[in-house]
Amino acid sequence: MVNRKIVGVFQFVKVIMRAFRFAILTGVFMRIIFTLHEIKSIVIATAVLSVAFAIASSGLEKLSTFPTAFLFSLISVGIGFIAHELLGHKLLAQKFDYYAEFVLWPAGLVIALAFSFLGFVFAAPGAVMIGGRPDLWGEVKPITRKKYGLISLGGPVVNIVLALLFITLNFFSPFVLWSTAAMINVWLALFNMLPFPPLDGSKVFAWDKKIFVTVFAVIIALFVFVGF
Ligand SMILES: [Zn+2]
Repeated sequence: MVNRKIVGVFQFVKVIMRAFRFAILTGVFMRIIFTLHEIKSIVIATAVLSVAFAIASSGLEKLSTFPTAFLFSLISVGIGFIAHELLGHKLLAQKFDYYAEFVLWPAGLVIALAFSFLGFVFAAPGAVMIGGRPDLWGEVKPITRKKYGLISLGGPVVNIVLALLFITLNFFSPFVLWSTAAMINVWLALFNMLPFPPLDGSKVFAWDKKIFVTVFAVIIALFVFVGF
């Protein structure tokens, strides 16, 4: 009886220690990929964009549909935005031995909220800053225009791929979440590809105008297809 209790306590302690180790490892892992400041910026941008998309799609006169619209927007923006930053910019930047960090643009958030009442979402809440890492001697490798363009292009391309995935899902099994996610990913791709600094599109435009025009045309075609 006593033995069983002791074994039980030991097992409990073991589970707690494992949970601790997991929490520490994931915490460290998260901080290697994102800085704490950046995580905060991404959470704020995701929340504000989700509210803006929910207002734009449900409209204020239909308040009853707002909670569902917000939930679907939150899931869609969460997936689209984090994949854009992480898969699109960060992993590509790391591959070239640079770093990429999302920087919030507060005015962009205010514009997104203000325009959402007109049924339109200005979906560019910030931009990615790309930099070189200093080597052992403190020298920073200059970034070529091509690599700058490629790292910038990564984000919108991830949104295009996600939009195609959700359009296909919606085709085979129609569901509001899939169509919302498709629409939001197209919007994220479109606004980030606008050729104005500091948006991704401006760096792609500066690198290769043909690639810029091709990708922009694909986004416009998707934009017409999902029926904005
Ligand atoms: Zn981007």
